[in-house]
Amino acid sequence: MAEVTLKNLVKEYRDDKRTTFRAVKGINLEIRDREFMVLVGPSGCGKSTSLRMIAGLEDITDGEISIGDRVVNDVQPKDRDIAMVFQNYALYPHMTVFDNMAFGLKLLKYPRDEIKKRVDDAADILGLESMLDRKPKQLSGGQRQRVAVGRAIVRKPKVFLFDEPLSNLDAKMRVQMRTEISKLHARLNATMIYVTHDQVEAMTMGDRICVMKDGNIMQVAEPLDLYNRPENMFTAGFIGSPPMNFFYGQVVPEGGRLVFVEKNDGNAPIRITLDDRLARLAKNYEGKSIVFGIRPEDISDALMVTHIDESRCLTAKVDVSEPMGAETYLYFDTTAHSFIARVHSEHKFDFGQQVKVSLDLEKAHLFDPETEDVLK
Ligand code: ATP
Repeated sequence: MAEVTLKNLVKEYRDDKRTTFRAVKGINLEIRDREFMVLVGPSGCGKSTSLRMIAGLEDITDGEISIGDRVVNDVQPKDRDIAMVFQNYALYPHMTVFDNMAFGLKLLKYPRDEIKKRVDDAADILGLESMLDRKPKQLSGGQRQRVAVGRAIVRKPKVFLFDEPLSNLDAKMRVQMRTEISKLHARLNATMIYVTHDQVEAMTMGDRICVMKDGNIMQVAEPLDLYNRPENMFTAGFIGSPPMNFFYGQVVPEGGRLVFVEKNDGNAPIRITLDDRLARLAKNYEGKSIVFGIRPEDISDALMVTHIDESRCLTAKVDVSEPMGAETYLYFDTTAHSFIARVHSEHKFDFGQQVKVSLDLEKAHLFDPETEDVLK
């Protein structure tokens, strides 16, 4: 079994002036045996540091890491039964593909036959059979990345660690390698921990995703759960592109209903009559500030909605219209801030045009503006 458990894991860096910086602030995470776990978050959130601590490449300031049922805090990287694939591939330029893949096994003094068998098997899995005699500079970026993955595979580790392995590839190759790594996971049945700042990679590859911010874990969930049931504004805004729209306003009672009102700088305020579900969530917020969140795809061109409910509609001025093919991204300017809708491309929208949109309130979320937690 190769579950990986992080308990109250802390990493502090100390600079020359002896000031300390907490890059990882006591995180707890259980990565299940054979799970594909993605650590995702913006630059500097501590995801690589966490991965490097699991690999043993970075000392732990406090806390505990277990792999299987063994605490590995004081275990050398080479004895942790892990293999890591780096962003820059870290291949030896003077060695052939075969020797690059064989290198770790040679160091571990594996018999020559066993090394050849493992390298041939890995080359077969990765489609590198015909390139074993080449040097890295004779390979494309995607092929180099495959060699780096091959070097991990030959060690048959319990846990694979990937640190942004696709970020040096062009967009097309990234998509291809994404699928290859997912297939590899299915085939090798190993635990994989994958670090990326790319939420599309996270959504498409992860069994579960761990969203990090400022050295903390914001949420751990399966991709669609994360998308549909974000626990906080950070996750809601980070996962999804274009991101979720946030409206900052107040909840006020009107004619027996609760209405969300956002001031709009001298213009008519934005008003959304809350449906029963949202009103129940907002009942303790009457007269108080609240954040209303809705994804761009949950805002439709009202002309395309068959049974229109005026209480769910907004009219706003188009700032930018980006036709993407089947759908168009409409950026609205409400003076307070802008918001984005992803609408069908049937109609053409012009700059400055007033457009009525309909909100799918079933998909909307409310957040506390102070804690930034979702109301539930
Ligand atoms: P990125 O996607 O940019 O690699 P990340 O989420 O992986 O970001 P980390 O590399 O884990 O972030 O870094 C977390 C924080 O720790 C950052 O603020 C970084 O500047 C800091 N940090 C990382 N390594 C060191 C170091 N050796 N000394 C001091 N600070 C460091």
